[in-house]
Amino acid sequence: MTSTLEHTASCALCRRHLLVGEPARLYQDPSSKRFLKVCPLCYERAERRGWQADGTPIVAVHANPPRDHLLRERENLIDRLRGQLQSVEFDLDQVRTALAKAEQQSGELRALKRENKELAGELRRRDRDLRQMHDAKRRAEETASQAEAAHRAEITRHHDVAAQLDQRVAQVGQLESRLALLEQELERERRRYSDLSEARRLEGDSRHIRRLALEAFNRSEHVDRIVAISRSIGDPVVHVAVDGGDLPRAVRITVAWDISWYEYLVRLDLYEQTVSVDEDARGGDPRGLPPDRLHPNAVLRSDRVVLTMQAYGVGAASA
Ligand SMILES: [Zn+2]
Repeated sequence: MTSTLEHTASCALCRRHLLVGEPARLYQDPSSKRFLKVCPLCYERAERRGWQADGTPIVAVHANPPRDHLLRERENLIDRLRGQLQSVEFDLDQVRTALAKAEQQSGELRALKRENKELAGELRRRDRDLRQMHDAKRRAEETASQAEAAHRAEITRHHDVAAQLDQRVAQVGQLESRLALLEQELERERRRYSDLSEARRLEGDSRHIRRLALEAFNRSEHVDRIVAISRSIGDPVVHVAVDGGDLPRAVRITVAWDISWYEYLVRLDLYEQTVSVDEDARGGDPRGLPPDRLHPNAVLRSDRVVLTMQAYGVGAASA
């Protein structure tokens, strides 16, 4: 303040001492808020700098030393008041700045509150999502544990089935070996039956049976007697016939001369492969025998009895 007073007599721009009666003007610098005296030659310069003129020009400015004491005191008072105004304006400016800053902070605070509210909403949403995810996880775990239990049951069933299968395989093996045994047995039976049926077929073949019977007879001791009698009284009439249909098959051999006859029974079982030759009866006059037994169908040749067809090489057309 005092420095302002000390410079009251000079121009703030050109530093020249103001002359008596020269109309100096007060300007305020907006950047510093200071009031400055400017001589009439420097008005334009001050305005170019952006200083603002304050009221009308002051004419009662004195150079050194002022003669009018009262005038000087008044001037000093004005200067003090201006200085105070300047200070108040400066304070006001600071208050304005502070207010602006406060308003700005208030706006920021509102924005922060809004943001905070949004964040709280977001937080609630996240919390809800988290709870849903938690529920979903619990459900998934329950499902998984159920699936695992089902899987264990399935494995148990599988083992049971496998055990049953093993058992079945063993049973099938036993059945197969038994079947093989049965098949062997059947095959034996089949062979036996085949042999039997062949034997029975041959037994049914009268000519075959008679030939076999004669072979047996020719090997027996009975043929020797026939041969011996023939040497003394000549060849006999010989009749060979299958006797009945019973088993074992019986073949009757009738050997007759004019004065005597013999009958033999040959019993054959082709399947059992047994044969027996027995004298059945004998007599003197053969006319007592049934006539068909005296029908010749075999002859004695070279110590053997043979069927007539054999003897003459005739085929098997008739007996
Ligand atoms: Zn000046």
